[in-house]
This record gives sequence, structure tokens and C-alpha cells, in this order.
Amino acid sequence: MDKVFDLIAREQQRQDENVELIASENFVSERVLRAVGSCLTNKYAEGYPAVRDTGSRGRYYGGCRWVDQIEQYCCDKWREAFATDYHVNVQPHCGSNANLAAFMSVLKPGDTILSMSLSNGGHLTHGSPVNFSGKLFRIVSYDVTAEGFIDYDDLARKAAAERPALILAGASAYSRIIDFERIAAVAKECGAYFMVDMAHIAGLVLAGDHPSPFGLADIITTTTHKTLRGPRGGMILSRDEEFAKKLNSAVFPGTQGGPLMHVIAGKAVCLREAAQPEFKVYAENVVKNAKALADALLARGFDLVTGGTDNHLMLADLRKKNITGKDLQTKLDEVHITVNKNAIPNDPQKPGVTSGVRIGTPACTTRGFTPEDMPVVADCIDKIATDFESNRKAVLAAVAELVRKHPIYE
Ligand code: PLP
Repeated sequence: MDKVFDLIAREQQRQDENVELIASENFVSERVLRAVGSCLTNKYAEGYPAVRDTGSRGRYYGGCRWVDQIEQYCCDKWREAFATDYHVNVQPHCGSNANLAAFMSVLKPGDTILSMSLSNGGHLTHGSPVNFSGKLFRIVSYDVTAEGFIDYDDLARKAAAERPALILAGASAYSRIIDFERIAAVAKECGAYFMVDMAHIAGLVLAGDHPSPFGLADIITTTTHKTLRGPRGGMILSRDEEFAKKLNSAVFPGTQGGPLMHVIAGKAVCLREAAQPEFKVYAENVVKNAKALADALLARGFDLVTGGTDNHLMLADLRKKNITGKDLQTKLDEVHITVNKNAIPNDPQKPGVTSGVRIGTPACTTRGFTPEDMPVVADCIDKIATDFESNRKAVLAAVAELVRKHPIYE
């Protein structure tokens, strides 16, 4: 037991001492931590509360009086925060499970999905051959332009030619606004379901910093732990009762057993926090910090895919800097800066090496980093990419100063 708690303390120390730039990570509030670490982890609650959102026959276990209320409260908070009447399923254990259930609710194995490939910025669950999505369905990918922007004309052409059953929008490493309206029109034209995976940008959508897919998409999936700043988990929202019924049975009993009630409580706390005016300021600052960091990297000779960012992340193309994504990730780790290697479109390197790194600002913005800090961060990254040995000590000192100025938990 002591071993585990010792390791948790070390991880806390690592988080305190590192500049966290992984675009999909964040720091939850102490209230979210408390909910996720609560007695709710003891409770089995297969099924759904027998109320709206579910069309369900209720739970398969006794003793669900309080967890029923928590789950319903969580669904209500989601609708309130996104100002939507969409139906909500808060049970998916993670984003991948949410996507699995979403596909299984309206598709049959072998159906065609038109989506963005992993190598162009999509997610594994959007059709990678090593994932269930690529194994179960026929995948057609829309391209990005030479500069890395979604090629909407290619998307429309492929939709007309391939007649997909479902068109999927959303990405893990795309730094620009996604034109949901344009993709929805294409889906309508070819009679496909329109699904949006807003995992990365959900917090920005909520705060109005990215156009919303609500009212356009039939199904919306998300994770709760990225820009939304909630516990690790997934969610599905759907346009109407008919989709909701199919989705609920695709989650349970289709692809999951008992829900993680402690995480559902954390999701409710997260959405209550995200509905406060402070969250709008936070999301705005995420975008401001990303722009400031992108500008500072460009000024230091880095290439960025698409030339910049509209959201919380950027994808640096390192070829001009003569360092691979893998090498830069490892070296930055040693000076307490955390990023992840990431393929750039048409990457000449293997997926385990890559020519790029993905850099995001949601986590450092939570601990109070401002646009004034971004040139310092860019300078550290540049120094390490250029000459690791000579600059290592100076960068460690600069990072120590940044994290001292901005503690995670006061
Ligand atoms: N969808 C997108 C766009 C993602 O970026 C991710 C995770 O990075 C997922 C789905 C999957 O989420 P999880 O890791 O919770 O399964």
C-alpha cells in the first residue's frame, strides 16, 4: 500500500514541477478529485435511472437511490452547460468507448465511415486499421491540403462517390476551426449520419470559442478530461429520442457493464464548474496562450502545420530544426517540459518516431500561465531543440521559475 501512495506522491511532484503541454491533459479541481475518490466507487448500478434521457427500465441492482440522483443531476448539468436539449448519456468510461457505442448504435459492421485519418490529425477510433473502428468498418479518409487544413472539397467529393453511412468530424491533432456547418450539409446531401467527436474542443465549444456542433450533428461524443477539465471519461449526446434509445442500449448492455458512478459524480462537478463565468475566461485564455505560444515558436524558426492555431493546440513540424518528435519529447522530459511526439501530415518518419510534436495550452492555463509566459516557454523548447547539452541547466532554471510562479493547487 505505501508503495502505491509513495508513487502517487511522486507523480504529484512531477506534475507540480513540469510545464504540462500535452494538448489532451488538464488539472481537475479538488472538488472533482474528491468526487472521483469517493465511496461511489463501491456501487454497482447497471442500467439507467428510470427517468428522462434513458427510456429505461431502471437499474439492475438495489440501493441505487442516491446514484440515480447523481446521474440525473449530471445529465441535467450537461444540458444546462451546453444550453441544449440533446439527450445525454454520461456512462461511457472513456472517449474510445463513447465512439464505439456511437458507431454500434447506428451502423452495422462493414458500413462505410468517412473520417479524418490518424496521420492527418484524426483519432485511432476514427478508423485506424489497428483499432476496432478500422477492423469493423470500411473507412474512407478525407484529406488535408498541402498546408494541413481540412480539404472540404475532397470531403464532399468522397461523400458523393462513396456514399458513407456516417461522416465523422473531430480530431486529436488539428489546430484550426472545424466547419461543422459545411460538413453537416455534405452529410445531409448524401444521406449520411453526421457525428462529431468534440473530445479536444468540448471546453472551447462550451465557452463559445469554437463553433458548436449542436443542432447540426446527429450524435456528439466527447471526453471529459481535456479542455473541459473534468475527470477521465466519455460522454455521448444525441439529437432526439430515437437516437438516444439506440445509444443507451449501445452503451449498456451493448458495450459496457456497470457505470463508474464516482466518475459520473466527477463529470457533474466538472460541468457545474464549466457553467460558471470563470470558465469562459479560462477557455479564452487557453486560446490566447496557444496563439502567443504559436507566435513565439514561429518567431524562433519553428514551422507549424497550417501556420498557426485557432484553438488550444499546435503541431510543430520539426524537420527544419533537424530533430525528430521522439528525440525532442525525450529531451524536453529531462528539463521538465512535457509534450508528445505526433505525426505531421505525410510524415516521412515512422509513427513511433515522427517529425512533429503536439503542443497544447489547456493544462498550463489552468495553473495560471499567461501570454507573457509563452515566449519563455518557446525559448526553452527552442534551446532544447537546438543544443540540449549547452542549454539544459538554464532551461531547468527557467522552468523552475515558471512553475514556482504558477502553482497547480494553491
Ligand atoms: N476522440 C478524440 C478526438 C481524442 O483525441 C481521444 C483521446 O485522445 C479520444 C477520442 C479517446 O479518448 P480516451 O483516451 O478517453 O479513450
